[in-house]
Amino acid sequence: PVALAGRSYDVTIESGALEDFAGYARACLGGFDKSGRAVPFVADRNTHRLYSDTVERSLSKAGFRADWFVVEPGEAAKSWPVLEKLTDWLLDLGVTRSDHVFALGGGVVGDLTGFACAITKRGCGFVQIPTTLLAQVDSSVGGKTAINTRAGKNLIGAFHQPSAVLIDPLVLGTLPDREMRAGYAEVIKYGLLGDAEFFGWLEANGTDVLAREPEALSHAIATSIKAKARIVAEDERETTGVRALLNLGHTFGHALEAETGFSDRLLHGEAVAAGMVLAARYSARRDDLSLSDAERAARAIAHAGLPSEISTLALNASGRELADHMRHDKKMEGDTLPFLLLKNIGEAYLARDVDLADIAAFLDEQL
Ligand code: NAD
Ligand code: ZN
Repeated sequence: PVALAGRSYDVTIESGALEDFAGYARACLGGFDKSGRAVPFVADRNTHRLYSDTVERSLSKAGFRADWFVVEPGEAAKSWPVLEKLTDWLLDLGVTRSDHVFALGGGVVGDLTGFACAITKRGCGFVQIPTTLLAQVDSSVGGKTAINTRAGKNLIGAFHQPSAVLIDPLVLGTLPDREMRAGYAEVIKYGLLGDAEFFGWLEANGTDVLAREPEALSHAIATSIKAKARIVAEDERETTGVRALLNLGHTFGHALEAETGFSDRLLHGEAVAAGMVLAARYSARRDDLSLSDAERAARAIAHAGLPSEISTLALNASGRELADHMRHDKKMEGDTLPFLLLKNIGEAYLARDVDLADIAAFLDEQL
């Protein structure tokens, strides 16, 4: 169980869990039944096509039926218009505060559903059934929910913890390899930021994880979630700075995403992967980390088929231009930006003395 804000919820990781969905979700199915109200599910077109039959088969055996709200795949679903349609749909279904809504999909479906549930009837229950590696190791746990607006990503949202998280690693069998690798970047992140032993394990077993070898995959997911839950439990609302550890590689990564227009050219996980290499090398440049450890981080990322050299990204931007993307960061303090850097593999820390002009000079060397 993950304990947060005096409440705790179970995170189940079980290969094949979706086949017995009704069994695993029993505690959250109260209030629905075959003759009465249907169980509300949110999915995107892909997860609906691939997994709605499995879920419905299990529900129907247990005497329930499902009703689906299906969005187009992609970031655009995290928007005001889709949120409005979803909340109207939930109200039409007569959802009450004690009901649960089920989010079957990646981080997009999870973030949208979670936010809709945070505001419907001032907060109804929801259950995360994450179907991407990124959602299984990161977005489904921790309670951040949001949509995107004109001003940027995830700027309208709420903290709203799910009632349960049900993870079936088998569903990753249909995930495109590129999405798998992008999620794997966040797995490496947990090793780099706080768990040298896990990082070493990933160096030896990363290929098996990416190949969806069941035991390796489950271990990677479980270790990642435990790391995230521990950090979030210490700082649920990002007030003490502990939760900021989860942003390793993200400040550099965000600049790369901004430069590529948040497009398919560079997925979030790919940007974070390149960003972690930059954070490691910048740490070495300050003599916080050994050069050999920085290159060890870079090798693990390259070995996973993730970008480790920004010179290969054909960015067409200067270090100054990349650093300018960071200037708008809401964490800026004067000319300095709190930056997550590494002292060791497995030991991240927040540096408060990083000057953006120095970051720009460093990026020019890397480009
Ligand atoms: P996504 O939800 O867009 O899914 C990626 C693609 O994979 C989509 O096309 C989807 O249809 C497809 N897909 C999903 N599961 C599949 C499966 N099992 N088989 C085949 N295809 C499948 O992307 P994502 O990477 O899961 O999530 C990204 C989102 O998560 C972003 O909006 C980001 O802001 C958010 N996020 C939130 C948090 C948080 O704490 N709430 C943390 C990290 C990221
Ligand atoms: Zn991330």
